[in-house]
Amino acid sequence: MAAAQEAKRANILVAGAGSTGLAAALAFSRAGLRTLLVGRVPPPLPGRTVALFEASVRFLDALGALERVKAKGCPIEAIRMIDDTDQLLPVPELTLRAREIGLLALGVNISNDELVAILLDLCRAHPEIEMVDADIADYELNGDGVAAILADGRRLEGDFLVAADGRNSRARAMAGIDVKEWTYPQVALTAMLRHEFPHENISTEYHTRSGPFTLVPLPGRENAPNRSSLVWLMSVADARRRLTKPREELEFEIEDYDKSELGAMKIEGEVGQFRMGGMQVSKHAAGRLALVGETCHVFPPIGAQGLNLSLRDVADLEDCLASVDLRNGRELSRALARYDRHRRADIGFRTHGVDVLNRSLIIPYLPVDLMRGAGFIAMTALGPLRRAVIREGVLPHLVLPRLMRRPAERNDAPDAPQRRAGSRS
Ligand SMILES: Cc1cc2nc3c(=O)[nH]c(=O)nc-3n(C[C@H](O)[C@H](O)[C@H](O)COP(=O)(O)OP(=O)(O)OC[C@H]3O[C@@H](n4cnc5c(N)ncnc54)[C@H](O)[C@@H]3O)c2cc1C
Repeated sequence: MAAAQEAKRANILVAGAGSTGLAAALAFSRAGLRTLLVGRVPPPLPGRTVALFEASVRFLDALGALERVKAKGCPIEAIRMIDDTDQLLPVPELTLRAREIGLLALGVNISNDELVAILLDLCRAHPEIEMVDADIADYELNGDGVAAILADGRRLEGDFLVAADGRNSRARAMAGIDVKEWTYPQVALTAMLRHEFPHENISTEYHTRSGPFTLVPLPGRENAPNRSSLVWLMSVADARRRLTKPREELEFEIEDYDKSELGAMKIEGEVGQFRMGGMQVSKHAAGRLALVGETCHVFPPIGAQGLNLSLRDVADLEDCLASVDLRNGRELSRALARYDRHRRADIGFRTHGVDVLNRSLIIPYLPVDLMRGAGFIAMTALGPLRRAVIREGVLPHLVLPRLMRRPAERNDAPDAPQRRAGSRS
């Protein structure tokens, strides 16, 4: 058929143009690989922001996105955690400060839509990236290469497929990778807020019996100098009730949950709602394909781990494939075995940690409450432990890919193409 003769070919095919897919296209093209990025521009996400920590900040720097992200985002200098469960043990407030580990900020909080817009702009301007604004209807995955078939019959080919097509990934299903999924009896409501008093670049997380209620600093605007984003986990029934309330009552309830620390609240724009669930995969790569982002991990937004982990997937994959000839099956399979090992450890650790913390809040059980409280007390009292926890949260030591190190430690100049023998089309 005519469409088959017009097949485009690249080194890397990226499926999905969400934040993870856009970052993947930039990371691989930075290394000099021709990249086809296939997916529709993501729709706006109401009230959604992402807090990105030090390792992700360095990665954004390597991708050339940091200056613009900083200009649109707000630095997070500290995170306060407050046990608001009325448990038996009096639990002190815990504050994790960037300066304790020698940083000016733990990370940056930016609206999800603005982050996507910045990455999209960079992808569109990059000479090695071609964007194809379409959905992939089918795949052909074999030993020699990969092909994505679009709904209109167009065929795109590559040496390697980076699957960033989200939690219901078709690419993952085509590769026969099994998933384990579960749900939590919770919904996250999200919103951007204006408030009376300044947040001082501090994020505050109240741990309540329905899950965390988190306020994350946002930059001020004209006539709105004090702004934050809200991620509020609650039961499905409470979410339904709150979404049908008059705005002013909801704003009052938000202020009440924050003990009026930031004063009166005003919601900007729409309130978002997201059903909470979890997912893990049996493996993170197969044949000529690797999974990144929500194709291989989903968990509730506690501790802002999701996209930070997704960017680590991308940076780690780029690292594992650096210096690999993508056409050499044996080299590729060794590199992917390494990627799978790394992701299994990193993703398993985060998924389990978030799951345990979430369940320990929503299932009141005295011994678990006491253990959680004891953890807070230990971290408040012991500086070395607290600093280790801060470091692990923002700059994980287990897997720190090259593109998440400081420029001087990356061993490459920004935008200097890495060479992969024989991998260029
Ligand atoms: C309430 C909430 C708050 C959060 N806060 C934070 C935070 O503060 N910090 C943090 O790190 N993380 C956070 N996260 C997690 C983070 O938002 C997600 O991990 C991230 O958005 C996932 O991005 P993704 O690109 O992997 O997936 P998606 O955004 O789902 O992108 C997948 C893309 O693939 C496309 N696609 C699907 N099928 C096809 C196909 N057949 N062909 C082509 N394209 C296809 C889709 O259209 C979509 O654009 C939060 C999550 C929630 C729910």
